[in-house]
Amino acid sequence: TEVKQLVEWDKKHFLHPTSNPKEGATTGPSIIFSEGKGVYVKNAIDGEQYLDAMSMLWNVNLGHGHQELAKAGSEQLASLACTSSFKGFSNEPAIQLAEKLASITPGDLNTVFYTSGGSESNDTALKLARFYWGLKGKSEKRNFIALNKAYHGVTMAAQTATGIPTFNEFAGSNIDGVFHAEAHLLNCELGDQDDPNYANSIRGIIEREGADTIAGIILEPVQGAGGVNMPPEGYLQAVRDICDEFNILFLADEVICGFGRTGKMFGVDNWQVTPDMMSIAKGLTSGYAQLGGVMMNEEIRQTFANYDGVLSHGFTYSGHPTACAIGLKNIEIIERDNILENVKNMEIEMKKGLDYLQQKYPFVTKSRSLGLLSAFELYEDPATEKLFESRVFPANTVVNESFKQKLIVRAVGAHNQGIAIAPPLNINKQEIEDIFERMDAALTAFQKKIK
Ligand code: PLP
Repeated sequence: TEVKQLVEWDKKHFLHPTSNPKEGATTGPSIIFSEGKGVYVKNAIDGEQYLDAMSMLWNVNLGHGHQELAKAGSEQLASLACTSSFKGFSNEPAIQLAEKLASITPGDLNTVFYTSGGSESNDTALKLARFYWGLKGKSEKRNFIALNKAYHGVTMAAQTATGIPTFNEFAGSNIDGVFHAEAHLLNCELGDQDDPNYANSIRGIIEREGADTIAGIILEPVQGAGGVNMPPEGYLQAVRDICDEFNILFLADEVICGFGRTGKMFGVDNWQVTPDMMSIAKGLTSGYAQLGGVMMNEEIRQTFANYDGVLSHGFTYSGHPTACAIGLKNIEIIERDNILENVKNMEIEMKKGLDYLQQKYPFVTKSRSLGLLSAFELYEDPATEKLFESRVFPANTVVNESFKQKLIVRAVGAHNQGIAIAPPLNINKQEIEDIFERMDAALTAFQKKIK
């Protein structure tokens, strides 16, 4: 089909997620992805190669056009594409992957409940947490604490847990019983009641609401869409300790951090903290199939294993054999190709590039990278953290200028001030340099604009 025709059909028939519908219906897409290899993807509209420095949505971790993942999927598709995993039905890829996940996830996390993506995983984690406390005879423990600036997805419970107002408030669709704490108030979480923010901390909320009413705390080890916000040293351990002190479940959302993004297999591994449940998706298959899951620990597994009723929760695609075969191959490649080591090495190159930008441009600041989860911010005056006037939309402008350089990055942060960079984990030094050459040109263009 002619590209022009595709653009017209897109405008008319395709309502795009997380986008401006009016723009979609009038301007149409700026890119129609046609093929990809490694970190590069081709745009059918202009026939050019673009550098995907976001791994699409922080998920295509082994890059595009990976033939081994394609082969694992096509072989499974050809032999047995889809089975149910309800009521005594199972399949080999789902079993093999469950065993593999049990072996690579931290501590005594040892059992998976499969979903089709991150939002479903988080809704599942919240529901299973409530179910768990019900089985423990504590059904009043049904509320949750999440963090401001968190992104947990768009299904109703995940949307409610999300702490980014535009997503959280969309279509007035929140569930009851979710409180938001300010992110990363380390002092308060360590018990400093004199801190002026104490009431907004996890600890403050637990004391106000009563631990008997709180089922779990959900958070991302490193916040992604909310701005690539790193927790301070000791923060995750402090949350773990709070959960132990008040008998609350620690639910880690590893949807972005999982499977090597931060240079460890899981985000929590950077701080040797073990959650009680863990949501996974995205990098589990490097995006080659739609798969997610919730990992749970031995205590939760045992509690469910003693329940002699129906666990009335599950998806048609829970344990989908093709998705699981791809997930299994994906983990095999991460291990075989020493992807974690590459991420640590490329983190060094990433930091060099970020430092270069920060030194060259007076408005670039706060650059950071844990593994290949990276960002920098744009301020009119970094010294006083004075933001650009809102009409400048600094991050959107830089994203647009980057796009002109055929570089795909993403705007993050509450004030349109952050740029996230999260390329595929098997990227090499030369390709990282390519990112920064293009970003350099984009920032020069931005600099001219704001003069
Ligand atoms: N959790 C985190 C941390 C995410 O970044 C995302 C997606 O970006 C989700 C959950 C939701 O995952 P999905 O879009 O697969 O439903």
